[in-house]
Amino acid sequence: MSDTRRLTIREAYAEASSFLRQRGVREPEANAQRLLEHLLGESRSGLLIRWAEPFPQEREADWQQLLARKASGEPVQYMIGEQEFYGLPFAVTPAVLIPRPETELLVEAVVTLGRQLWDPAAARQDASPAVCDVGTGSGAIAVSFAAQCPAWRVLASDISRDALEVAEANAARNGMGGRIAFYEGDLLVPYIERGIRLDAVVSNPPYIPEADEAGLQPEVRLYEPRTALYGGADGLVLYRRLASQLAELPAVPALVGFEVGQGQAAEVKRLLEQAADWDDVRIIPDLGGIERHVVAYRKPS
Ligand code: GLN
Repeated sequence: MSDTRRLTIREAYAEASSFLRQRGVREPEANAQRLLEHLLGESRSGLLIRWAEPFPQEREADWQQLLARKASGEPVQYMIGEQEFYGLPFAVTPAVLIPRPETELLVEAVVTLGRQLWDPAAARQDASPAVCDVGTGSGAIAVSFAAQCPAWRVLASDISRDALEVAEANAARNGMGGRIAFYEGDLLVPYIERGIRLDAVVSNPPYIPEADEAGLQPEVRLYEPRTALYGGADGLVLYRRLASQLAELPAVPALVGFEVGQGQAAEVKRLLEQAADWDDVRIIPDLGGIERHVVAYRKPS
């Protein structure tokens, strides 16, 4: 009797995991689980509660389709349309880079340092600093700043109109719609043109050297937006432009924080040191020990 042979949800998960593994998908279990949650409209715990139930037959065709897409390399985040970042949900579309966990460390570093620099109790400086996220993409960094630091005035910009639409939707979704001013434009140009004074410039710009394209994971190379990935021939083009644009702002910001690619930190630090005077320029490693962020700051005088 075919009915008794129907798979449970747990068995469907196990079968999907081994299928994805055979097809060379990394983290097959985690991918199978996220896709199953998405298919069945369940949270992680909701799925576990239904573990022993029969897999719903009417979802079988959709399930096979999702697994085929995943097996061909599509990032699960684009398939389910979502990625969590710094504890908040973000919609992602192929117009934006999928926010990465290492970028959470940049948010963390800037929030910690910014709170020290602009401590309202110390009352030594503007207690509502203007903090901008250049190349905001999904809005992950900007929305996290707004959520973490109610006193900050957050600005966010991107050269991509499509990305800005995603970022604005993510701000609204997380209750930060009124907290962030969005600008369309290239790097710091929107702020320079309007003469906007910025206290902090933060960016996770595209930094992959074009020459490294062939070596990228297909999931990244074939699906994520080119504009968000490549930083010119050596990957450093956007840092050079950002560093030189700092001087065109009404005042050099007191804090600059950049995410960088592997092997780029020392050169980005040098670019920043050349561009302005700082009290300190720090290089911060990620959890894998790779020098991942460069943060420069001046204490209020
Ligand atoms: N700022 C966004 C993020 O960190 C997008 C970065 C990018 O597209 N290079 O996720």
